[in-house]
Amino acid sequence: MRVYIGPHFLLLATDFNDTIYCMANTYEVIIGGGGMAGCAAAMAAVRSGCRTLLIEQFGYLGGCATAALVNPFMTHCASDGTPLVAGIFDEINRTLDEAGGLLSNCFDTEILMLVLQEMVLGSGAVLRLHTFCDGVSRDDNGDIVVRTVSKSGEETFRCRRLIDCTGDADLAVSLGAEFESGGEDGIPQAATLMFDVGGVDIVRALTYVRDNPDQVRFPKLASDVDLNELADGVVSVAGYYDLVARARNAGEYDAPGDLVFYIGRPRRGEVTFNTTHVGNIDGTNADDLTRAEVDGRRQMISVVRFARKYLPGFENAYLARSAAHVGIRETRRIIGEYKFSGSDVAFARKFDDAICRLAYPVDVHSGKGEGYTKDEEVAGMQAPGPGDWYEIPYRCLIPKGIDGVLIAGRCVSSTQAGHGAIRIMPACTAMGEAAGVAAALSLARGCSPGQVDPVELRAALRQRGALV
Ligand SMILES: Cc1cc2nc3c(=O)[nH]c(=O)nc-3n(C[C@H](O)[C@H](O)[C@H](O)COP(=O)(O)OP(=O)(O)OC[C@H]3O[C@@H](n4cnc5c(N)ncnc54)[C@H](O)[C@@H]3O)c2cc1C
Repeated sequence: MRVYIGPHFLLLATDFNDTIYCMANTYEVIIGGGGMAGCAAAMAAVRSGCRTLLIEQFGYLGGCATAALVNPFMTHCASDGTPLVAGIFDEINRTLDEAGGLLSNCFDTEILMLVLQEMVLGSGAVLRLHTFCDGVSRDDNGDIVVRTVSKSGEETFRCRRLIDCTGDADLAVSLGAEFESGGEDGIPQAATLMFDVGGVDIVRALTYVRDNPDQVRFPKLASDVDLNELADGVVSVAGYYDLVARARNAGEYDAPGDLVFYIGRPRRGEVTFNTTHVGNIDGTNADDLTRAEVDGRRQMISVVRFARKYLPGFENAYLARSAAHVGIRETRRIIGEYKFSGSDVAFARKFDDAICRLAYPVDVHSGKGEGYTKDEEVAGMQAPGPGDWYEIPYRCLIPKGIDGVLIAGRCVSSTQAGHGAIRIMPACTAMGEAAGVAAALSLARGCSPGQVDPVELRAALRQRGALV
């Protein structure tokens, strides 16, 4: 499959696969949730020979990466540059790049939607969009029955293996899986409504950043840096302490925190703001989600007005797009056969059943919604030592006591600190790929997912290009 896209226009698209529609209601593998984890799981399962259905509630794939406008792909290398995640994640990156939708680790959201769609369909998976998985049960043969609701009404789909990639573990919990959420205070990480701003004079913005190093957490720019060259790459800025404080005192800034944080986009002049924070949100509660959307949107407009009035380079900026869904960092974390923790990150633990390597630190946003504070000690985040990495064990994907089901993505078994490290998109994609391959192996060997031989699983993943 190749998707050729210019900066604005689809130029040419060939070999699109038309096997889209859910003609049947019985599959070997069903995946609920088409985020990064679900897309990778679907591709891996179908490439491993399983008849596979991917069910997604929205009208497009990508989950947080598209619906919540999350960007960029957080680092998937060790501090010395050693790549840690490859496999399907690399394929997605390559396809994005060929389509003109990637600049370093930043991607074009629209192009990612199309790339994921065509990669999933190109793999031969069956796709059902606009369909919400409402509950799961077992029939008399032990097969898993997924109930859905959509414009087509209520339907049921049967499978032998279910991979829960809903981010919220909706499916596993419906089957009785136990879970945890939040940290010691029980509050999950704050929600963030992301939004894109266009019309930014990046060089002018960077001039302020270079000349006021005490006003930014990053980047700290050398006085002789070539700002034009810098502006052609990915520019992320966190700071503007005094301007934020001044605007707040003048009643012109309504978002929490001491700073604004924006991330460059592949297209020069566009940035994504990751600045709003709404606290005390349970992303599995519709009332809370409503509050997160409403408060997030109010904060967003205050940040846009602030940027236009106070930030050099943003004088002619405009709100280009807000996320279709408020960004939910964390909800349920399934209790699995192993609970990944912050100490696994700090001690760079390796596991015999490892299915993913990573070096991203523990990154937990306060659940109360205070936003980014000036004195936050970023350097103190738990992380593996220089050049080192930790591994995610396969057992995190196996919910305790629930047969036939695997979990992948941000709801795998972990403590809140462990989750804070492994929730990033490269890891979710790698976990999805591992879950898809493991589901197929468990069917081929006639065993439950928890009994899959980790040596065989890791060999299969390696053969596909995964780094394990
Ligand atoms: C504000 C914010 C900033 C972040 N920043 C970064 C960053 O800079 N870099 C990075 O790498 N990561 C970042 N992350 C983390 C990362 O985006 C997510 O953890 C990751 O994308 C989760 O992928 P996933 O596939 O596990 O879940 P999701 O992306 O949540 O996908 C779940 C999918 O399941 C669907 N779904 C849910 N329930 C159902 C149901 N019952 N039936 C059918 N479909 C359902 C959803 O619509 C969605 O498409 C950030 C997250 C947030 C919220």
